[in-house]
Amino acid sequence: MNCLIVYAHPNPKSFNAAVLKTVTDNLSATHTVQLIDLYADHFDPVLRFDDDHKRRDLTSDPATKRYRDLVTWADQFIFIFPIWWSGMPAMMKGFIDRVFVAGFAYHNTNTGLKGHLNGKAWIITTHNTPAFITPFAQDYGKVLKGQILKSCGIRPVKISQLTGIEKNSDQERQKKLAMIAQTAKTI
Ligand code: FAD
Repeated sequence: MNCLIVYAHPNPKSFNAAVLKTVTDNLSATHTVQLIDLYADHFDPVLRFDDDHKRRDLTSDPATKRYRDLVTWADQFIFIFPIWWSGMPAMMKGFIDRVFVAGFAYHNTNTGLKGHLNGKAWIITTHNTPAFITPFAQDYGKVLKGQILKSCGIRPVKISQLTGIEKNSDQERQKKLAMIAQTAKTI
């Protein structure tokens, strides 16, 4: 399978970096894996269009061509990011805004969006909110799953929510990494 990992965390020594390493170390060697590390790439997350630079031309924006090519190539997406203010970091949201553009990832119909993309996805989020509150929390990766990926044709989408990360003991965090390793092996 062609696995595309999209990763957003500014600190290469973070717990998210440990999640990324755990995933890459445990994916089957039969897969071809590509990584988009948005901070390492110095990705500009700000979507811009105006009268001179039309929104419809974003489908051929040379600045994002590499990312569109990878998105088309992938049949397994893995998104890894911390929850900030209940949702994706701006870096990840900006990646979606600039790469999953109309005409490329979807088009509008009278009954909603028609997705152009293929493949399945696994979203891994980390956050401080404890596990018993998470099912009732707003967003926490659910918008990426339901309103973005599924609308663009990517399904099924699995979410692994790693809860209470900063308050966890080291042992609890290691247990979570072991769980991620197990799931990565099944991809
Ligand atoms: P880090 O801070 O890098 O690490 C967390 C702990 O894990 C540290 O003790 C670190 O030493 C340890 N660690 C690092 N590597 C390993 C390893 N290999 N093995 C074991 N332990 C390790 N949380 C919410 O729940 N809801 C919110 O709305 C929310 N909003 C936020 C908004 C902002 C702007 C910010 C900055 C944080 C917010 N948070 C929120 C908290 C955020 O989700 C957590 O800080 C984040 O998920 C923790 O992941 P990290 O990779 O940054 O962890």
